Amino acid sequence: MKSLVILGSSGSIGENTLQVVAAHPELFRVSGLAVHHATERLLEQARQFGVTRIAVADRQAAAQLRGRLPAGLTLLAGDEGVEELAGATGADMVVCALVGMAGLRPVLAAIRAGRDVALATKEVLVAAGESVMREREAHGVRILPIDSEHSAIFQCLQSAAFTPRCVRAADAPPEQRAEARIRRLLLTASGGPFAAHPEVDFEKVTVREALQHPNWTMGRKISIDSATMMNKGLEIIEARWLFDIATDAIEVVIHPESIVHSLVEFVDGSLLAQLSPPDMRVAIRYALSWPDRQSAAMPPLDLAQIGALHFAPPDPVRFPCLALARRAMACGGTAPTVLNAANEVAVETFLDGRTTFPGIWHCIEKVLDRHQPQPSPALEAILEADHWARREAARLLPQ
Ligand code: MG
Repeated sequence: MKSLVILGSSGSIGENTLQVVAAHPELFRVSGLAVHHATERLLEQARQFGVTRIAVADRQAAAQLRGRLPAGLTLLAGDEGVEELAGATGADMVVCALVGMAGLRPVLAAIRAGRDVALATKEVLVAAGESVMREREAHGVRILPIDSEHSAIFQCLQSAAFTPRCVRAADAPPEQRAEARIRRLLLTASGGPFAAHPEVDFEKVTVREALQHPNWTMGRKISIDSATMMNKGLEIIEARWLFDIATDAIEVVIHPESIVHSLVEFVDGSLLAQLSPPDMRVAIRYALSWPDRQSAAMPPLDLAQIGALHFAPPDPVRFPCLALARRAMACGGTAPTVLNAANEVAVETFLDGRTTFPGIWHCIEKVLDRHQPQPSPALEAILEADHWARREAARLLPQ
């Protein structure tokens, strides 16, 4: 029986994780749940899964809940509360599905407490990949990817006589290095709502249009990232850290059907792909069950019915976020931290209706232009760069 703490349980990944748990009561139980502010849903989940420890990041929402907390429930409040829950004893694995940079400290707390992490929050690796992977190695824990592309790559790598960095021991022999086996990673991208529509005038794109993802139902932040294709830029950086592959060897290919979730090209010219219907529970179930597989009541993928799968190159001119992400990685150090922070602020500003859709990447570019990256930053320098970039982005964006 594996005991799980789920951070961000009221969001799309959190809800899907609980569905996987509910389908395998003999394998998984939930020992802790955390949300940002959705306390009603949190109470329902705690009741349904018999959870006794919960955390609410938003202090006001936590204070309101405290007055009417059901007997037997322990409530932790604020970001520190979420961190405490992530590092608490009694869990085997922490599922992190918090939105954005908010996931960093809880993930580090889980790693330092010796817990494996199932990671949906890619921003954690974008902002602090080098130090998170270092901590992982120092504490001998595993990071299992929940992002569907990274789950696909992780699954394909299981077939090679090679252990991916995210689950490898720090003292693994040199033949376990990725470059000895892998030529390229190919990340597939649906392209979001706009890749197939070159006629769309980005200056006029509304929030509602940008949130209309063709294949996946997801949270608001990642839906906008998909529409700008920054999501794929962030995923290049995420893959670089999880699998220890140079970013130049990570390519993006548009695949509108979202059936092939990513591919690995090995040095012998062989490509392996992972295919499944676009359902996040596939990746979640694999992360929770690894290295095993668990049966699921999934409808079979009917390839004959699908008929054709399409692939196309991304358009770097219409989607400049891809190049911005590569530029940040080439600069290194705190540059990806700044890219991520500026993106988080710009996306929020767009969702509030205060900037245009292209305003998102214009802001990120300007903040990157002003940044002096610091190499191999410690956590303090990462947090400082994050705060600086948020202030700069807020200053540059319309109030
Ligand atoms: Mg993804």
